Parts: sequence; structure tokens; C-alpha cells
Amino acid sequence: MLFGRKKKNPIKINDKGVVEWKYTTCGYCSTGCSIEVGLDAQGRAVASRGVADADVNRGKLCLKGIFEHELFESAGRGRVPLMRDKPWQEFREVSWDEALDRTASEIQRIQGTYGRDAFAIVSTGQIMTEEFYTLGKLARGVIGTNNYDGNTTLCMSSAVSGYKRSFGSDGPPGCYEDFEHTECLMAIGSNLPEQHPVIFWRLKQAMEKRKFPFIVVDPRVTMLAQMADIHLPVQPGTDVVLLNSMAHVILSEGLEDRAYIDAHTTGYDEFKALIERYDPEYASRICGIDADTIRNVARIYARAGKAMTIWTMGINQSTHGSDGVVAINNLNLITGNIGKPGGTSLSITGQCNAMGTREWSSCSGLPGYRLLEREEDRKTIADFWGIDEEFLPKKRGLFQTDIFPAIETGQIKGMWIIATNPMTSMTNTARIRKILENLEFLVVQDAYEDVETNQYSHVYLPASIWAEKKGCFTNTERRVNLINNVVPPYADSKPDLWIFNQMAKRFEQGRKMNFPETPEAVFEELRQLSKGRMLDYSGMTYEKIERNRGLQWPCTEGEEKGSQRLYTDGVFQHPDGKAKLIPLPFEDNNERPDEEYPFWLNTGRVVEHFHTRTRTGKLGNLNKFSPTPYMEMNPDAARELGIEHGSYARLTSRRGDAVVMVQLTHRVPPNMVFIPFHFHDCVNRLTLGLLDPHSRQPAFKQSAVRIEPVADQKAAAVRNRAARTY
Ligand code: SF4
Repeated sequence: MLFGRKKKNPIKINDKGVVEWKYTTCGYCSTGCSIEVGLDAQGRAVASRGVADADVNRGKLCLKGIFEHELFESAGRGRVPLMRDKPWQEFREVSWDEALDRTASEIQRIQGTYGRDAFAIVSTGQIMTEEFYTLGKLARGVIGTNNYDGNTTLCMSSAVSGYKRSFGSDGPPGCYEDFEHTECLMAIGSNLPEQHPVIFWRLKQAMEKRKFPFIVVDPRVTMLAQMADIHLPVQPGTDVVLLNSMAHVILSEGLEDRAYIDAHTTGYDEFKALIERYDPEYASRICGIDADTIRNVARIYARAGKAMTIWTMGINQSTHGSDGVVAINNLNLITGNIGKPGGTSLSITGQCNAMGTREWSSCSGLPGYRLLEREEDRKTIADFWGIDEEFLPKKRGLFQTDIFPAIETGQIKGMWIIATNPMTSMTNTARIRKILENLEFLVVQDAYEDVETNQYSHVYLPASIWAEKKGCFTNTERRVNLINNVVPPYADSKPDLWIFNQMAKRFEQGRKMNFPETPEAVFEELRQLSKGRMLDYSGMTYEKIERNRGLQWPCTEGEEKGSQRLYTDGVFQHPDGKAKLIPLPFEDNNERPDEEYPFWLNTGRVVEHFHTRTRTGKLGNLNKFSPTPYMEMNPDAARELGIEHGSYARLTSRRGDAVVMVQLTHRVPPNMVFIPFHFHDCVNRLTLGLLDPHSRQPAFKQSAVRIEPVADQKAAAVRNRAARTY
């Protein structure tokens, strides 16, 4: 007699005819999973699997990683360069020389007519580190525009800004292994199971082995919040008040780490003076968390001995994003929780190589965390590149979110957009559309020619994608990992490195400089430029990176493994070696619900999709599991408005309107709705996106809307389906 599993049909996995597995690194999120792509006898990518001995993912992949091999031949890939005189005309196919010549001559025309900074470059968090470095060399050292930034301003610039203000440099100080040591974990505005599933799995494993208090701060009852010991449904945009108040409790009850504060920080007196105002009763009225809960959480955190905070967009995408990060750092500094196993403040990064652009792209400064504002740094890089130091600007130019308004005012006339899709990702879509129509010249470089922003381009350059090329990504925990080119570039698409190098040759200054042609040779420049710096790569080689399944920086010459944590010696990157405790007065400057627009609009992610669905919207299973945008709405609020589960409703904000399907759930309170941000012509028609004053990151998650039922449900369903089909 057969019992249990033996009685069931065994799971059958189709033999896909894999004859070879090739090592690479996932190209979606910043978790940095090591992945192997299986090739069949014809050399086609037919399967993906996690790498068992990789420390990051230990054989696991999420839904996106499992289907990643399907990317190479997915719909919408760009085959050849395209050109036209005006947007909306038919494109014509052209040679690479024609497309690059026209792009270079338009850059030169615009710069010659309006000045060097009238041409802007906006890139991504998706290309290889070697490509970022080369693009930076081209933008800063050859084209010479100071209006050059990445789309990382939409996701991580608050983390960068906060780390710089507190510690004197960017660079997340912790690692995933901290989950295994911590005695208390607080997650703020981070829904790991949907955003970073494999980091979530690492956390869950640690929690299953060893119980420690788990606190989640989020206005919504996310999947992660449902697992928390304590969930704090904070009022949108008021995290700083909660964190100030926790610091108030810790200092007033003498729970701080006095020795650490004295030895490793400055600014304590000013910080304490400000914190005194934030007693829990006062804070409770602003952040919506009752005073006793604030006290309880502060005591748990301070008494843990080893406590850590992780965060994602809930903190970063706010008008107080940078302050929120500083407030987290303040909390960890006063409790002595930086640089020790289980004690850290760890930003969970967004894109696969958002860290690579922060380190090497020169968007916000110069390569290797060097500053445009520092003469010594300008000189080092100018000498290394062989250019006149005076060619480099003495301070950074506009952030991405200021570049678009500068097009509106006529300050910027031309733009090069690389692997990003502002027509879907930026707030207030209607405004972005008009802005793009104002450009005299737009070149879009992307692996997909059907990316929405390409509707406004004059030239389209088809780039190779992910593992069609070779190079490195850096993940959330500063781990540099290798991407091998497992298949050749699709059709006549070219690696971004090749495109940047070809562009450099079309400028007089570029012809005089050395632009290495292989990723290996570019990586050698990174090793040289990083030697002795905080982000030291000098101990890394491609072979060693692959052998170790990624190496964390700093990794100095001769070292076999990199370093897991920063600031273990309590020495920070400010000139005096101390971290700063920074007072953070709170001013409520968001758009808020009112009588006319009574609901908070919150936005976020779903596990099936990545960013603007340029890739995941084309992949069968991912799109099948999440085919359409939806709105989470509280059933009580819906009943009052006569809105039913599964029906379509119209949302209206001061910017525009959108129609989405309603999902009734108690995940959101009655005065809030939530919509995933991935879909074109949807939630960003509504968002306002006020900017953080330090990081210039938009407040995607705090807008006000009104909601009404849609009379003609059938027409709404038809329109919705048509809009989502590629
Ligand atoms: Fe890729 Fe992130 Fe999923 Fe890992 S968790 S497989 S890195 S998308």
C-alpha cells in the first residue's frame, strides 16, 4: 500500500535539452543572485537556475530570475538602428555609422548653438559597471555636459544623500549575513517578499533559526508587515517624526551607547536639543503611532545590543527621503549599531546595478566616489583620462528630476536617454510628454524599440541586453559579481560599451583619449582608480569574482575575499573621521488628502514585474500572473462610494485621471489606495512627485486623489486590455 507523496504523481520537469550551463548574475533587482543560463545544442538559451554555492541566493531564484533566459528573444527587441526627421514619423532603418554620425553631429550642433550643458544625458541602473564608467568618461571627459544623471534619482538618491550626510560617503555599511546576527530588525517602507524575494528568503531563514523581534513600519499591511511582531502603520511621509521620537525615548531613558557616541560622532548637543521636542505624545499626533508603542519599539531597539534597520522606497521616495535615511543612521549611531555583525543601517537598493552607477558612472561626481567639488579629485581623474582639468565642472549639474523641467524652460534642447523609460517611470506623465515633445533632438538607446519613450525620439540605438555582453554589477551588500555573455547580441544590437566607444571616436577630444574596447581592460582602469580607496577593487579579477560567486568591496590587492562590513573600526569618511548626528526638524510639505481629493495614493511594486515592464511585460508567465494594473481599496471606503470588487473605478488627481480595476482588501486603511507603478499610462498620470530638497528624489508615494465608479464597465475593460497589450 502506498502512502503520502508516493501515492501522488511525481513532479515532471520537461527536459529542455540543456547541453551547457553558463554562469552569470541576474539583471533585474539588486539582490544580486548568481544564475546559470542553460544552452541547448543550437546555443539557444532555454533555462535558468540558481547557483547552489553562491552565498547570496544559495540556489534560489525568484519568478523573474527563473524566466530570465526568455528575455533574449522577447518581443519588441531592437534589431537595427532607426532614424527619422521628426517624432511620430515612420522610422527608417539605417546603418550604425549613420545613426551615430547623426547623433554626434546633433550633440555638437546643440552644444555649439546653446552651450555645452544644453545637451543632457540620462542613464540607468541596468548596464554594466564597465559601461557606466565609460559613459561617465564620455559625458564628463569628451562631450562635457554637466547635465548628466541616472534614473537612480528616482529610487536611490535619498539613500546616497543620507549616507553622505551621516557618514561622509555613499556605501551601504552592512550585508545580508547581518540577518544571522541581529537581535532586532526594523524594516521601514520595504516589502521584501515582492521587491527582493531572495533577500526576504535569507531573512526568513534567519528568523526560523533564531527568534528576534521584527518590526515593520509601513502605512500599508504589506506581505512583510503580516509577518511582523509589531507593525507600525505610520502616516505617509512622517517616518522622520517616528524615528526622532524613538531617539527621544532612547536618550531620555539613558538607553544610548554613550561610549560609541563620544568616540565616533559629532553634533550630539544640537541633535539632542532638537530631539527633546519629539516626545512620543507630540510625535503620535503627527505620525499616527500611539505613544506607548513608540516607547516600546524604541526600548526594544536600544536594548537589543545588535539592531539593524533596512529600508527601500517607502523612505527614499518622499519629500523627506534624505532626512529619513539620516534619521535611521542617527538611530543606529546613538545605539552603537554601525559596522558590527547584526548592527547596521542597510539600504536595500533597487536595480541590479544601481550601486555600480553610484560608484563609477560619474553622474553625481567622478569615478570611485570622487567629488567634482574637490580639486584633488578633479586633478586625479583629469590626469588619468589625459584631459585638461579645467574641462571638468567644479560642481555637479542637474539631477534627472531637474533636467526635465529645464527642457520645459528651454535651458536644455537635446537629450540622450539610455535604458530608462521616463514616459512611464516619471511622475505626472502628461507633463513629461509635453517636455519630450519640446526637444530639438532625442536619441534613445535601449534593448527594446517599443519602449514608450522611443515614441519621441529622432534616433533609436538598439542595445544588447544583460548576458549578451560581459561585465560586472554591484549588489545591495557591495558585492561585485560577473555577468558573462552567454549568447551573442540579438540581431544587429550592440553592447552599450561599444556604442559609447564609437561615440567617443566622433569627438576630437575622444579621439585623443584612451577608450579601452574590452570590459576586461575597462575593469583594469577601475582596479587602478579604486586602489587604496573605500571601494577598493584592486584585489578583484573576473576569474576570482566568478570563483567566489561575487566579492564585496573593499577587496584589496592580495586579499582572497572582500570585506563584509564598512566602518568596523568606527572611522567614517568625513574629514575628522567621525559620523555626524544631524538634527532633523520636520515640516509637513506634502500634498495631503482634503475634501476634494480625500484619498492618499500610495504606489509600489508587484513581484512579477520589474520597473516599467519593458522586459517583464513581454514574458508569458510574468505577464499572465500580473496582466493588468489594479487598485487596492478598503471595502468600507468602497461601499460608501458604491464601488464593487473587480469593477473599474476612475481616480482623479490635480494632474490627470486613470481607470483601474478594484481589489477590495484590508491591506490599506479607508483613507488610502495603492496601485503598482509598473504600468504605462496609469498611476503616474496621477502622481505629483514633489522633490526631496537634498536628493531631488520625487515623492511617488504621497499624492491625493478622488475616486468614483465608472458607469460603462464594458468599455473600461476593453480600453484597459488594449492599453496593456504589447
Ligand atoms: Fe533576480 Fe532579484 Fe529575483 Fe534574485 S531576487 S532572481 S536578483 S530579480
